[in-house]
Amino acid sequence: MSRLFLRNRLCMPVKGYNRSIVYDLIRYDYFFISNEVFELINTTEIIDFECIGDEKNREEIKEFLLKEEIIFEILESDEKFNFPVMNPDYSTPFLITDLIVHVDIDEVSIDKLSSFTLRDISILVDSYDKNVLESCLNRISMLEVDAIFIFLKEENVAYTYENFEALSRVNQLFNIYVFNSTYTSNLNQENELFTVIEIPSSFEYFSKNLDPNKLRINIEMFLEASNYHSYYHKKVYLDMKGNIKNGLYTDEHHGNLKNISVSRFTEIIESKSFQMLGGIKKENTLVCDVCEFRFMCVDSRMPYIANTEKWYHTVECTYNPYISKWKLETDYKPLLEVGVALHPTSGKLTIDYEILEQYNNFLWQ
Ligand code: SF4
Repeated sequence: MSRLFLRNRLCMPVKGYNRSIVYDLIRYDYFFISNEVFELINTTEIIDFECIGDEKNREEIKEFLLKEEIIFEILESDEKFNFPVMNPDYSTPFLITDLIVHVDIDEVSIDKLSSFTLRDISILVDSYDKNVLESCLNRISMLEVDAIFIFLKEENVAYTYENFEALSRVNQLFNIYVFNSTYTSNLNQENELFTVIEIPSSFEYFSKNLDPNKLRINIEMFLEASNYHSYYHKKVYLDMKGNIKNGLYTDEHHGNLKNISVSRFTEIIESKSFQMLGGIKKENTLVCDVCEFRFMCVDSRMPYIANTEKWYHTVECTYNPYISKWKLETDYKPLLEVGVALHPTSGKLTIDYEILEQYNNFLWQ
């Protein structure tokens, strides 16, 4: 009798143009697989290994999937009912999940925010001033917020533990990010109550571009990105003047928090026009719709729509899913050079399959 295998319900296969990925949502890990293996395991039923013709290949694939616990064996086919499929819906109790503010946000605005329960707050600091930062953090920490992140945008600064010592009293503080700067501490890492992350680029580059280190895998991220836009969904950015925006790089604003009541602010963030960007799925966005990373990336680029059914971006991502290469990798080429043309105003995508296939054969055969 042939052995019976089921896919682990928290290992989700996602298909890309060239290759696929299994998202291991419980161990925060991922595994590249071929599109052939994607077709094999993209089922909640018993896996039919017989559909792979070559016996040796079949056994190798089985061994890999078992070793990584992507599949497991059952004895009777009825056992599959003991492993219910994950509910694909996403909901969150927060009206705002991610709020971005500047360090000099005024007290009146912070008072207005006290009516909300927030998941994360990011504080942007153009130029480090110990007193200003401490006073802002103390006021922000009085809000109902789970996690606080600080982004010190100034470059070429040598920070030490003494710069941040007073901040460690704030138990919601998770990470402090420093850009093209250094941090040295005289404490053991386990004694520090927050983590300082040294980013080897400017804040602007970091916040606009993706790289493999910024990919995130967990159930919440997977479900949010499958149903909504993982950057714009329930995000609010208050710019330096207090203007209410969808994200760091959106031009349009939806009023100014300084001049409106809390109920008007609530109306704005619940309005269709404010929530429009948050509802855009990567599945409905050109280029991203064939990218195997689409449920683990947080993409701050502004999406546009023209006469096509799909959204598109005018700025290219640092990952080209048609050739499975990141910009920093050898042999990377932008879309146009591999035969993929995205018209910047009509949003129309055309592919020269001959050019694309030729380059993929060069890369991957
Ligand atoms: S192309 Fe870039 S932004 Fe789009 S899904 Fe892939 S990694 Fe994310």
